[in-house]
Amino acid sequence: MLIESQYGVNATIRPCRLCGEQRGLSISHALPNSAFVSALREGSGKVVAIVDDQTTPIQFSSDTWGVELLCATCEDKLNRKLDAYGIAVLKGQIGTVLRSDYGVTFRGIDRQRFRAFFLSILWRISVSSHASYSNIDLPTHWENELHLALKFDQKISGSKYTVAIYRLRDSTPDGFTSESLRSIVTAPFARDYEGKFVSVCFICFGFLVEIFLSKLPSKIKNKVGVLVGSNSIFMAPFQEIFDIPELVNMMGSGLYKRDIGLSQID
Ligand SMILES: [Zn+2]
Repeated sequence: MLIESQYGVNATIRPCRLCGEQRGLSISHALPNSAFVSALREGSGKVVAIVDDQTTPIQFSSDTWGVELLCATCEDKLNRKLDAYGIAVLKGQIGTVLRSDYGVTFRGIDRQRFRAFFLSILWRISVSSHASYSNIDLPTHWENELHLALKFDQKISGSKYTVAIYRLRDSTPDGFTSESLRSIVTAPFARDYEGKFVSVCFICFGFLVEIFLSKLPSKIKNKVGVLVGSNSIFMAPFQEIFDIPELVNMMGSGLYKRDIGLSQID
């Protein structure tokens, strides 16, 4: 049913969130649809969905968190200009990717375009009405600024958002393989750094992405993993998956629900 709507069948006539024109809207994804593909493939078309609350049972789901958001023209524009590029870089299909003891290094990439890809995801998370994105709503002026930059193909100033990227790794015995790490997709979550900074994080394609909603002091901004400047070489350091407290909580919540019988997958 999702796929039918994606091609305009039964599309609703409403203003497109990007161009503002009254048009039939496509099913748009904030986190790219292809992030769900490997997870769905591993689970024969279904993934185990864990909602981080007290009451929602663990259940199988084939939902890829798409909603009617953009007209076909705008959807195609973001897909071609940003999604196709960003996904290809993450999958190692553009430039070269070298793995070391510290992380993965991408060579021959367009940093600005790569950064714009993540910021376009952030904007789509903010404007999406899907329940998985309901906990993230950017302040209006931040959302408007991203909107205008994406609509008019303007550069998104490096002095505003700081984008950091980390490659997931699990060094625990019998832990997640690289392949299974790539099949994890989380709903975005926010971090508050003692009131000094806030950030929005999400996990997809085997990476943790953290976007700070402000310019950070240079000692933080210049850390490895921060996507700043225009250098065509970029290293995403490793991030141990069990050192991400929000993810551990989500997995813990899922295990707890299964223990108390709040599960529809057993
Ligand atoms: Zn449009």
